[in-house]
Amino acid sequence: MSPPLSPQRPIIGTSWKMNLTRGEARAYVRRLRELLDDDHVGLVFVLPPFTAIDVVRDELAGSAVLHGAQNVHHADLGAHTGEVSAPMLAELGCRFVILGHSERRHLFRETDDDIARKVAAALRHGLHPLLCVGETAEERRQGLTFTVVEGQLRAAWAGLGADEIARSVLAYEPVWAIGTGLNATPAQAAEVHGYLRGLVSELASKETAQSLRILYGGSVKPDNAAALTQVPDIDGALVGGAALQAQGFITIAKKSASRGGSSKE
Ligand code: PEP
Repeated sequence: MSPPLSPQRPIIGTSWKMNLTRGEARAYVRRLRELLDDDHVGLVFVLPPFTAIDVVRDELAGSAVLHGAQNVHHADLGAHTGEVSAPMLAELGCRFVILGHSERRHLFRETDDDIARKVAAALRHGLHPLLCVGETAEERRQGLTFTVVEGQLRAAWAGLGADEIARSVLAYEPVWAIGTGLNATPAQAAEVHGYLRGLVSELASKETAQSLRILYGGSVKPDNAAALTQVPDIDGALVGGAALQAQGFITIAKKSASRGGSSKE
């Protein structure tokens, strides 16, 4: 069973993608701890590359910052060269694993079925699957945004019970906003987050829909974090490029907490 997430809001997380060596990861986390001078930043997590997970875990010891991973194989063990399993991540103290990211879907051709099996593996081993859904620019242009995110969500969660859905975290990440500098407006994000919450209510329960965390990701920066995270249905942010320096990440976390944070409890 994944330990429940603390009720703190917002949740602000970063995936470093394929960035930061072990030495750089150590320096980042040390700086992060220096900058985290108060407890008003909500729940913060970091997703390093596999090679730096143990460094991040050790440097974060005794802090409230959580860590996780950027991928997992659906099997627990076996002849899967180059892959990493959920028990291996759990052993490293990971609490989250990001799944369904658009780079995995598009660059590595992960299908909805692959993602569903990874979600199930994460849940089996006490990890919170952080499921990303989002439409491309062309899909939005064609008016398919809701259809696309709904299809991704239903497929990834197929067969899960309400209790398993409750241990998940969602991220709405419009593909056209990832790494482009073009964020969704708060109104665009609010519309999709509201839609997703309605689906969670249908797939699990009203209570789960209220408590499930739905993060927004896609070109979140210090100057738009507060406006996005103050939207009632946006429970936090998932940040890529703007959080590759600890200072940027903490600035975003503080801005999100000051405008969008604990008042949403
Ligand atoms: C991401 O890749 O999930 C992401 C949100 O990246 P960026 O913040 O750089 O758009």
